Amino acid sequence: MNPAIERLTKVLRLEARRGFDNRAILGGLERMLEPWEAEAERADVPQAIVQLVESRLRDYPRLSPKAREDALRGIWRRLESELPALGPWSGTAAAIGVAGEAPAPAPEADQLPSADDAAASAPAVGMEASTLADASSSQTADHPTAAVPQEAAPPPPPSAPAPATTRPGPRGAEPAFDAPLTAVSGIGPKSAKTLERLGLYTLGDLLWHLPRRYDDYSQMRPINRLWYGEEVTVIGAVEEIRLRPVRSGHLKLVEALISDGTGALRVTWFNQPWLAERLEPGSGVVLSGKVEQYLGRLIMNNPEWEPLERQQLHTNRIVPVYPLTAGVSGKWLRRVIHSIVGRLAPRVPDPLPADLLSGLDMPSLAVALQQVHFPDSQESMLRAQRRLAFDEMFFLQLGVMLQKRDWSELTTEGLPVSEEWMGGFESHLPFPLTKAQKVSLEEVRSDLATTRPMNRLLQGDVGSGKTVIAAACLAIAAENGAQSAIMAPTSILAEQHWRTLKQIFQATTTLPESALRLLIGATSEAEKGDVRQGLLDGTIRVLVGTHALLEDPILFQRLRMVVIDEQHRFGVEQRKLLREKGGNPHLLVMTATPIPRSLALTLYGDLDLTVLDEMPPGRLSVETRVLRPVERSRAYGFIRSQLDEGRQAFIIYPLVESSEAVDAKAAVDEHQRLQDEVFTGYRVGLLHGRMRAEEKEDVMGQFYRGELSVLVSTSVVEVGIDVTNAAVMLIEGANRFGLAQLHQFRGRVGRGPHHSYCLLIPERDEDTSNERLQAMESTNDGFRLAELDLEQRGPGDFLGTRQWGFAELRLARLSDIRLIEKARQAAQQISSADPHLMLPEHAQLNKAVARFWSPKKGEMS
Ligand code: ADP
Ligand code: MG
Repeated sequence: MNPAIERLTKVLRLEARRGFDNRAILGGLERMLEPWEAEAERADVPQAIVQLVESRLRDYPRLSPKAREDALRGIWRRLESELPALGPWSGTAAAIGVAGEAPAPAPEADQLPSADDAAASAPAVGMEASTLADASSSQTADHPTAAVPQEAAPPPPPSAPAPATTRPGPRGAEPAFDAPLTAVSGIGPKSAKTLERLGLYTLGDLLWHLPRRYDDYSQMRPINRLWYGEEVTVIGAVEEIRLRPVRSGHLKLVEALISDGTGALRVTWFNQPWLAERLEPGSGVVLSGKVEQYLGRLIMNNPEWEPLERQQLHTNRIVPVYPLTAGVSGKWLRRVIHSIVGRLAPRVPDPLPADLLSGLDMPSLAVALQQVHFPDSQESMLRAQRRLAFDEMFFLQLGVMLQKRDWSELTTEGLPVSEEWMGGFESHLPFPLTKAQKVSLEEVRSDLATTRPMNRLLQGDVGSGKTVIAAACLAIAAENGAQSAIMAPTSILAEQHWRTLKQIFQATTTLPESALRLLIGATSEAEKGDVRQGLLDGTIRVLVGTHALLEDPILFQRLRMVVIDEQHRFGVEQRKLLREKGGNPHLLVMTATPIPRSLALTLYGDLDLTVLDEMPPGRLSVETRVLRPVERSRAYGFIRSQLDEGRQAFIIYPLVESSEAVDAKAAVDEHQRLQDEVFTGYRVGLLHGRMRAEEKEDVMGQFYRGELSVLVSTSVVEVGIDVTNAAVMLIEGANRFGLAQLHQFRGRVGRGPHHSYCLLIPERDEDTSNERLQAMESTNDGFRLAELDLEQRGPGDFLGTRQWGFAELRLARLSDIRLIEKARQAAQQISSADPHLMLPEHAQLNKAVARFWSPKKGEMS
């Protein structure tokens, strides 16, 4: 039989057997029209039949079951007259309710058409209800793998009751969210593999594959505002239409004139002669395609078209556009997701307890998911997004609060010191503390005195003097005979801390020098052994190292205090790990990433917050200038004048390629050029990520000691480096860096008594007006810059890595303070009423929070 006819009859039979519930095709019979028509065309199905099917199925969802039966019978009669072998409709009707005959599955088209040939391969549309039933029942069965691709599924035994699929499952039973993609009859193993590249493995993943953006056809353009070369969608009425045979009848053209009251557009279709009948003059039509020009007039060739039907246009006004990967067409994916959403969204359990939800003025999760994919209006789409964003913020904060509660129940050794001791420590420092430093010192002293582990975040702009607070914590632990560790993100920084601490301890404590040790990658094996021994027997009191200390199986005799520098590389999960390792030591995490307070409370809600909001006195703000590339030689001249005054300079090169090798090469070449041609007579050093650790240490050491005048570096120099004699920071390719990073770089200068400068050179002239660069020029305030940064970039970006341990924030914006506040209130309410989420009404919530906090690997990459 003709394959297109065969497919059609199978669907009609199945629909009849189901009692005309419009579920033989997931998402409704009307969904099959588009691909089926394409297939019918290829299979030479007579035009009259195609038109009949088209006209009967368009309105199918809006018909009563009785009218639906009539509609399908009409199609069947027509088919019968062409194909007597088909058998009478009554025979099919008699099959209604007949148990045992396995529903005829639509054959799987395991092929993802590209956007261009979407119509050409016409896969089975959506999925058949029975297929989903197989998948959902597998959830409750012992073997979830029973949800195999349709073609492999055995037919139900003859005695099987009629599929229970049209009824929702029993309350609480979860439908097929975990079923593999192949449970959809349009998706075979090959398509499933392709979709895996988008991180999609299950039907639930598809349900949560949110649109990247929307095409809003309610914003369609009038014809008189079209420009040629554009891809547009136009609505109009058919003014004239005619079939024109050309070239001795081989090619058939349909020509039409479409107008919308503002203008008219000539449209030509090739080899679709039946369109001349299908599109009657006066009827409305929606066209999508490229506007072209012919003899000064605007035309369209072979546009996609759809009859204009109020209802349809209304419901499909806003069309989702999904993230795609090679081998998946947008149309195809939209169709698949449409069927999944129609089927699964209504059955998604809402994790928000009913009374919370009712106080929020937000849609249910089921509605939100439906509307975020296929919105009825702009407004309901925004409401849906807001609801989903709320959930993210809510789960995030609730998780943090629950964590904090857990931790507050832990105990550890108290590390008290007297006020006199503290005063002595302070008075031996090389400088008087700022007021902010004094306050935070008091805070950590009182934290440490109790047996509840300190859990504090010390936040302060670059150069605000966090290190001395850390030093005090370490000294307090040592004073109590306990051990402590301080960890930095790079070995250069670890070594810098080690040097600073040595000085501070010499001045303020009686600790022998051997009680403070450094352990980094470059440390020799012999020395490492020595350090391990010292930690075990307690002769080492303070260990300085990188985050690798956490991974190394290092054992302490009595670790009670841990300081972590540069918190933004260190998430909740890592803190948890540390807790488990170190037997609940007191914890101080330090960050130079200035985060707006509400955000800090959200992300670091499990920590107590101290802010160093004051700079040490005498700090001159760094003068910042954005220069055009042609002004580079002026910049060099300026740097030379600074070097002549005895200052030092940094020159930073961006990551030009994503490859570190290329990146390093650029820096290597530039270094050579600068040494030979620009700064002859000065020593120019080079630092990049490809160098061995010892080489880096060596170069940094030389720069510290003033043996190098200029340090050429890639972004490895980013954090924490403290060279007070450095007065100029030149940043090449400045447009490539984020605000927070630029501010970090700038923080490398202006740390001493000298007037300091930051010169920003973007790649092209026009980048000098770049918002970020302008912001750098206008303010030195890290908090202000952080806020700007947050507005300009997504939160994922802002946080640097995804090391946070929670799922990606897809809709929530960390700059949306009102939503954060709302979510926090809700989280507080729930967490104080039910700190472990054990109440039955919080069962779904408990699951959702757990899921949010342990995202799959696929989501993390
Ligand atoms: P950051 O907060 O960026 O880690 P550091 O602790 O490295 O800042 O301090 C930056 C510089 O300021 C260091 O050279 C340090 O010695 C100096 N410093 C810190 N506190 C004071 C102070 N109260 N008065 C003067 N200089 C200070
Ligand atoms: Mg620091």
